[in-house]
Amino acid sequence: MNMQSIRNIILKSHYDREDLVHLLQLRDPEKAELLEHASGIRKKYAGDQIYFRGLIEFSNICRKNCLYCGIRSAHKGLKRYNLNDEEVLETARYALDCNYGSIVLQSGELESKHFTGRVNGLLNKIHQHTGGRLRITLSCGEQNRETCLRWFESGAHRYLLRIEASNPELYGRLHPGDQKHLYSRRLECLYDLKDIGYQTGTGVMIGLPFQTIADLADDLLFMKQYDVDMVGMGPYLEHENTPFYHLRNLLPGHFERFQLTLKMIALLRIMMKDINIAATTATQTIDPSGRELAVDAGANVIMPNITPVKYRQYYSLYNGKPFINETFPDLEQSSDFPGIKLNNQIAYGEWGDSIHYLKKQGS
Ligand code: SAH
Ligand code: SF4
Repeated sequence: MNMQSIRNIILKSHYDREDLVHLLQLRDPEKAELLEHASGIRKKYAGDQIYFRGLIEFSNICRKNCLYCGIRSAHKGLKRYNLNDEEVLETARYALDCNYGSIVLQSGELESKHFTGRVNGLLNKIHQHTGGRLRITLSCGEQNRETCLRWFESGAHRYLLRIEASNPELYGRLHPGDQKHLYSRRLECLYDLKDIGYQTGTGVMIGLPFQTIADLADDLLFMKQYDVDMVGMGPYLEHENTPFYHLRNLLPGHFERFQLTLKMIALLRIMMKDINIAATTATQTIDPSGRELAVDAGANVIMPNITPVKYRQYYSLYNGKPFINETFPDLEQSSDFPGIKLNNQIAYGEWGDSIHYLKKQGS
């Protein structure tokens, strides 16, 4: 196909599955053109600001056993931790002091009354201690509708629950085949969250074992059809204490997964112009400027890890997770993210709600 006909596909107003499969395989210079087009769309429809959320990984205790994840419950050698309430509150206050307008509370998945009650208490305390100035996103796995509702009423405004792989068959191969790991349950939870009124985020891993380019095209169509408000997606990275580690030589290399991630971000931005898309930590594990490059491909959210340093090594989803020893960056003062600061406006202290969501709410 010549350059002109590729350009015609990139500029289409609607992509079908065949277009996406084609575009996901672009190489430079056409790939660069795709990314540039997406970046222009981001600035036009999602604004020229980049939003920051402080990520607090408050516990690595998990009841599940996803075959790709380094903190799965069968990883017995891993030290398990749980920040106490005071540590979470301190970190939330610190986020505010550092000019973050928003935080993400992330953890392994537990369903016990103790856990769900504790998260509820944390939401209330954080809002009290910060005068309601922080937007809070939760990412604590699948929960029943009642719990999701309770957390929403206590001031969780957004929820991140990646579908991981929208193809149910592939999802089945990524998880143990038991009642704890049902695709149908994950989907149901995603629809409950939306129905309750959350700004809802989902996403997938890119470059997974058994995953095809057509699966990734379908993932993009899934996110469009679900009408997602925010997305976090990044490369799958192996962890040595997982069942998938032995498949590592069958996978595309890290560079290839990274390039695919940039194309996924760009395509989604073109398909869903006003949603929030995160430049994830996993992109940075592969390339030190991964997050900057993801922003240049259409992402508009960055989530620096602000978990107290001594716990970071234990939230080991995959090998080589960066910033294990980094201290908190004060957003305005720090010299981090030079590329992003040079080419974009940083939304210090702002909530940065998804424009897509706000439009649906009619505000
Ligand atoms: N327990 C919650 C949230 C924490 S895990 C949940 O699973 O929803 C957060 C995300 O980390 C997951 O959604 C998954 O997409 C990602 N993740 C886990 N293991 C990974 C790996 N090996 N490589 C890349 N991302 C991974
Ligand atoms: Fe637990 Fe989430 Fe890891 Fe699955 S991906 S094992 S639910 S922390």
